[in-house]
Amino acid sequence: MAKYKHIIVPKDGKQITVRNKKLRVPNNPIIPVIEGDGIGRDIMKATRRVVDASVQKAYKGRKRIVWMDIYAGERAHKLYREWLPQETFDAIKKYVVALKGPLTTPIGGGFRSLNVTLRQVLNLYACVRPVRWFKGVGSPVTHPERMNVIIYRENTEDVYAGIEWKKGGKEARKVINWLNKNMKTSIRADSGIGIKPISVTGTKRLVRKAIQHAIDKKRSSVTLVHKGNIMKYTEGAFRDWGYQVAIAEFRRKIITEDELWSKYKGKMPRGKILIKDRIADSMFQQVLTRPDEYEVIATPNLNGDYLSDACAAQVGGLGMAPGANIGDYVGLFEATHGTAPKYTDKDMVNPGSLILSAVMMLDYLGWDKAGQLIEKAIEKTIAKKTVTYDLHRQMKSAKKVKTSEYATQIIKNM
Ligand code: NAP
Repeated sequence: MAKYKHIIVPKDGKQITVRNKKLRVPNNPIIPVIEGDGIGRDIMKATRRVVDASVQKAYKGRKRIVWMDIYAGERAHKLYREWLPQETFDAIKKYVVALKGPLTTPIGGGFRSLNVTLRQVLNLYACVRPVRWFKGVGSPVTHPERMNVIIYRENTEDVYAGIEWKKGGKEARKVINWLNKNMKTSIRADSGIGIKPISVTGTKRLVRKAIQHAIDKKRSSVTLVHKGNIMKYTEGAFRDWGYQVAIAEFRRKIITEDELWSKYKGKMPRGKILIKDRIADSMFQQVLTRPDEYEVIATPNLNGDYLSDACAAQVGGLGMAPGANIGDYVGLFEATHGTAPKYTDKDMVNPGSLILSAVMMLDYLGWDKAGQLIEKAIEKTIAKKTVTYDLHRQMKSAKKVKTSEYATQIIKNM
């Protein structure tokens, strides 16, 4: 067993392993958990209680999660004098599936962001965000129930790859001079420079995961969202490579939108998945006007960033927006919001985002029965109008409860 400096490996749990390209999950898996900064403490406590209760209820003691604290952010800095210790990466890699609260990005810590670093170092290339509405939650749209999508956002490329040079710096000047001289561009000398790489490798592994999800969860369409009309060799290529992977690897299970009209007269054949593509700007209209025409969405990094928040806004905002960052096998499940520092230790915020991320985690483990119990219990709790402050301000005659009380209500409603 690996020796860690501060991580204590629980004796009563077992490691998740990967065999024949599949996760092998014991009945008592060790799940590393990063509590997170700011509101992380409150929402992680609530989440662990809800998850433990659901697993107990679903499997009557036959299964149990054995949590193992690992450290990042402020807690790590106190313990190790480092924001992201190596043994945190090692533990996530070794134990395969982990749960994470939000982290503050230290100013002057030498990181662009702890979250981005975790994703890049662990090669968690798919940022997965399901967005659905829970009955009773206030919404700025007339039919929030029509929104039920899952967004697969590429996590490692695009303008987010961090290849940037500051205006006036040596590197920016060098790149500008070289491009202007050799590529006949006319970039202004006072420009900052960012590079947008999008590769076949990055695109295909993401779209493959999105299509596989549609197959596993019996969803009927996958939409490639891109800005290929303008950025032909990056965004346009993302679309082309997306169709290529669909046709080369999933031929029997999918049809393209062109084929829908050329071969099937616009009538969807039973049991197939429709692969379509939309230009990003039009997609922002579509998710408002016809959200029920979309189920699984695969998209490059920047589009995905905007789109997932825009979709989440329609169903109750950040407090209800779960997420996961997934690589070939390793999955890091986390709330999509930040540390909301003004609410630190106030026992006030909505733990829903982290709890729903844990539901995704249970699903990933194949423990969907426990996950479904939680989702139903959240539905019931909201239907009874017992909610935290954020939902309270969007609902009429609801009862406002604390983070911990909300978790207790969810457990009662299971
Ligand atoms: P934020 O922490 O997401 O909070 C922004 C606002 O969203 C809050 O003031 C609150 O709005 C609402 N909110 C967030 N979480 C909520 C919850 N659980 N329940 C109810 N409402 C919630 O964004 P930020 O203030 O821009 O960022 C703060 C820090 O978090 C920064 O250091 C940033 O780098 C970090 N961050 C981390 C992650 C991550 O770990 N994945 C992600 C984003 C940001 P109201 O005030 O209107 O109630």
